[in-house]
Amino acid sequence: RAIVRDLTGVAEQNPDILPRGSPANEEDPTVFETRFLRKIKDLGEGHFGKVELCRYDPCGDGRGELVAVKSLKPESRGQLGCHLRREVDTMRELYHQNIVKYKGVCSEEGGRTTKLIMEYLPAGSLKEYLPRRRDQTDLRRLLHYALQICQGMDYLGSHRFIHRDLAARNVLVENESTVKIGDFGLTKSMKEDKSYYTVKEVTDSPVFWYAPECLLDCKFYTASDVWSFGVTLYELMTYCETSSSPTTVFLEMLRPTQGQMTLTRLVEMLRAGRRLPCPSHCPESVYSLMRRCWEIDQENRIQFKELVTELEELLF
Ligand code: ADP
Ligand code: MG
Repeated sequence: RAIVRDLTGVAEQNPDILPRGSPANEEDPTVFETRFLRKIKDLGEGHFGKVELCRYDPCGDGRGELVAVKSLKPESRGQLGCHLRREVDTMRELYHQNIVKYKGVCSEEGGRTTKLIMEYLPAGSLKEYLPRRRDQTDLRRLLHYALQICQGMDYLGSHRFIHRDLAARNVLVENESTVKIGDFGLTKSMKEDKSYYTVKEVTDSPVFWYAPECLLDCKFYTASDVWSFGVTLYELMTYCETSSSPTTVFLEMLRPTQGQMTLTRLVEMLRAGRRLPCPSHCPESVYSLMRRCWEIDQENRIQFKELVTELEELLF
């Protein structure tokens, strides 16, 4: 099944590798049945969704494949149902070695709720993985992760998607040498005639990963993802330690404020040119890449393609 599904993905991306008119699969490998899905444990949760590890076991012999299943939390059903459906539509279109693989969907309650089925990455996100693997992870490895994230993001941007939630918590670890971008819950597709996407509000958003134009005008460009990548690179270089996380450090830089004021003060501070500091043990060459992601005007920011080149130069 897994192989059939993978081939389906390859065929969808490359419609001409299969002979035309070949018979469709009798059984759609991207449709999963609830009754064969056995929960093993919780993997994590965010604002509106939760992710569980399940075994898909149609033969009932306990040897079915392991999958990660994302569903909305009960309190988010109804009004946010469209979020998960949009996430499914996005993931279905993406096929890249550094993007979490879509496997299918599972409908419940007569089609009123949907679950997203994706490949399971046992090591979890960088946020869980890196603090535990500090001693085994050298600078080269961190830069390799950064390079892979940029390659995945360059692919995403070239397909006119804006991720809008790039952060270490949303980058998953396949094995010690490979990472993949996940969590397309906020991802937006840009209309043909536009190079940005406007949202209604930024409350409840990962503000410390956001570029000034997102905070000020709620406008998101591919260049806004570049800003978030800079923050993600900062997280990599601090091994995702909570004590030096972007949230902790920005709040220290802002001094005590509350609610709306935090946003206003944050924008003022960024406009005054203040940025996250260079993490300890982070080479100046890597910090200068972060700074090029954090140019105030999005036109002046480095692009993912250039980041790929620069990181390759640092590595080879
Ligand atoms: P949310 O939209 O709720 O933030 P995510 O897709 O980011 O949901 O998933 C939440 C957490 O669940 C992640 O930070 C990660 O720890 C875990 N997780 C998500 N997808 C997978 C997966 N495919 N394999 C393993 N762990 C996962
Ligand atoms: Mg998330």
